[in-house]
Amino acid sequence: MPERFGIMGGTFDPVHLGHLRTAEEAIDVLGLDRMLFIPAGSPPHKPGRQILSFQHRRNMLELAICGNPRFGLSDIEWRIPGKSYTVNTLRGLHKELQGGELFFLVGLDAFLEMDTWFEFRELFGLACMVVLRRPGYGEKDVGDFLRKKVSEQYEDKSGGGVFSHPELRPVYCLRNTQLDISSTGIRELAASGKSIRYLVPESVLRYIREECVYTDRAGGTGRRKEDAGFGRDGTRGKEEKGTQFGKFDEQRGEGDTVCKGGVPFQGARPDCS
Ligand code: ATP
Ligand code: MG
Repeated sequence: MPERFGIMGGTFDPVHLGHLRTAEEAIDVLGLDRMLFIPAGSPPHKPGRQILSFQHRRNMLELAICGNPRFGLSDIEWRIPGKSYTVNTLRGLHKELQGGELFFLVGLDAFLEMDTWFEFRELFGLACMVVLRRPGYGEKDVGDFLRKKVSEQYEDKSGGGVFSHPELRPVYCLRNTQLDISSTGIRELAASGKSIRYLVPESVLRYIREECVYTDRAGGTGRRKEDAGFGRDGTRGKEEKGTQFGKFDEQRGEGDTVCKGGVPFQGARPDCS
């Protein structure tokens, strides 16, 4: 039997418990062997917004998944040059995972926009889609979307939320626990100095505090390190080394940790012990 891989792609800016819990549930419901989290290298769908450097997003993801033997991380989108198109990612994964069956997890919000993705119809031949419920988005639209945008032949024969097709892969609607958590909400809370505890794992919370990734109390703008000169590899330009970090070196309120002032982030892997 081929190995069954769940694939959860996203910006993960930052990873949160909504991602982790739905991934865990998908493994059990669909009998998957492993879930691979794939941080977007250069996401084409986030125009007009600065996203955190790949290294920071990857580090947080690594911290979040460690300790769960069924979770893994792939940096395939980092290795493929240019914009991160899911169709290229899935093709690359087919090569790397040699014969593995792919189950691509996608939240209903993202699913209903998939027709704007590059070569999106191809995706339905490359992987089974697993549509995750998300508060605020109605499930009934899945069938309409599939028939209108992908193929008239998609059919939910049993009425159980599994759409099959004579040639393309099935699409599953997962009855996952709905958690009203989003990275956008977390960034906003963090930038305004409010608690994000219990929305992200403790290890990620500590990382966000220590690296001050979503706050810049000195500037008061919520500006993140990437905006302050981080390169694609998560390191900073020579001319800026050791300068801007000084202003993060202050004691934050309510028992928060002290930001690592003066220590430029080198993109090292976090210690997840
Ligand atoms: P942002 O607010 O920045 O868009 P996000 O919370 O939507 O962040 P992404 O990294 O964009 O997180 O999401 C990656 C994938 O996970 C997408 O398919 C998204 O729909 C799904 N997802 C995100 N949060 C949830 C959640 N709470 N429940 C179910 N699916 C989710
Ligand atoms: Mg999103």
